[in-house]
Amino acid sequence: MHDDLCGLPGGFSRALLGIEHATSRGCTVRTNNYRLLAATVGRVIAAGASHVNISSLMPAGRAAADTALMPRYDVVAPHVAAAVRVAFDHGVAATLEGFPSCAVPDFAHLCLARDERHGDQITCLIHGNVWQNHDSHVAATCKAKRASCASCALGDGCGGVYGPYVQMHGWDEFQPQAAAAA
Ligand code: SF4
Repeated sequence: MHDDLCGLPGGFSRALLGIEHATSRGCTVRTNNYRLLAATVGRVIAAGASHVNISSLMPAGRAAADTALMPRYDVVAPHVAAAVRVAFDHGVAATLEGFPSCAVPDFAHLCLARDERHGDQITCLIHGNVWQNHDSHVAATCKAKRASCASCALGDGCGGVYGPYVQMHGWDEFQPQAAAAA
């Protein structure tokens, strides 16, 4: 899928080689994947990753209108859960970013909440404006919650759902949660 998304045959193999070079020099590495996510996590751990952060695709550009590029969370969630278990099996920490907390119920407690990075906030430049806290900016401008979210026990730590995602897939898979998984 990586090669198709990037339009670059052989790009995934070259990316893995780059991960090995980067981790061997102590760098932080980010990568993307979905159907082969568990295998990818195993591979990047073998290449030296010490923390796996799985980031949900942001439905922008082509992904804002193409369900093949932006599949439903309930399709992706089993792959995300399997990938997290691979990380834990290797003793590697895992976090989830950009997912509504109810989208990966077994690992809702791993979802990075708004402002949870504390001293590690990401400053970003969007359309010429500098935003000191990427997470809060995205939650305030790109995401939404439905009325029933008000009764969700995970609501405080959940940034909501990307607006273009709701336009593509609707609200039906997002249900208020009673409590976070242990
Ligand atoms: S029900 Fe709403 S508030 Fe609760 S986790 Fe899902 S999207 Fe977030």
